[in-house]
Amino acid sequence: MSLDTILKKLSVRSPWLFRINAGSCNGCDVELATTACIPRYDVERFGCRYCGSPRHADIVLITGPLTTKVCDRVLRVWHDIPEPKVTVAVGICPISGGVFREGYSIKGPIDRYIPVDVNVPGCPPRPQAILESVVLARSIWLKKLGLEA
Ligand code: SF4
Repeated sequence: MSLDTILKKLSVRSPWLFRINAGSCNGCDVELATTACIPRYDVERFGCRYCGSPRHADIVLITGPLTTKVCDRVLRVWHDIPEPKVTVAVGICPISGGVFREGYSIKGPIDRYIPVDVNVPGCPPRPQAILESVVLARSIWLKKLGLEA
């Protein structure tokens, strides 16, 4: 097997992560930052890394209850992410609205607008739960690519 083939196989198994804040209180975002910055919870050990552009992303992690103010922008950015993508709802807010449920400025839950592949309940979820969801999202992404996890 050539070096090029090996590098291609390795890179296709290393999804890039992108984070969208859909009106979060920042609690979930702090936990996401933990998985990016704290060596104990380092998400890169699973071959994943955060990227700065939706156009480079494979797995998207969404926090927050989807407020009226950001709804259009969140959906536009989500549509910018190329297929096949995997969507993870981080925290109870995107799953059900959480403590903001039925608030006058809340348009969520997020699955009213986009398909969600993985839910991570919690307020906020622990970093371990987020890591577990990323590993699950990675295997869903590989299946969508027609590869084995
Ligand atoms: S789930 Fe909790 S910590 Fe996360 S954005 Fe909602 S209120 Fe904040």
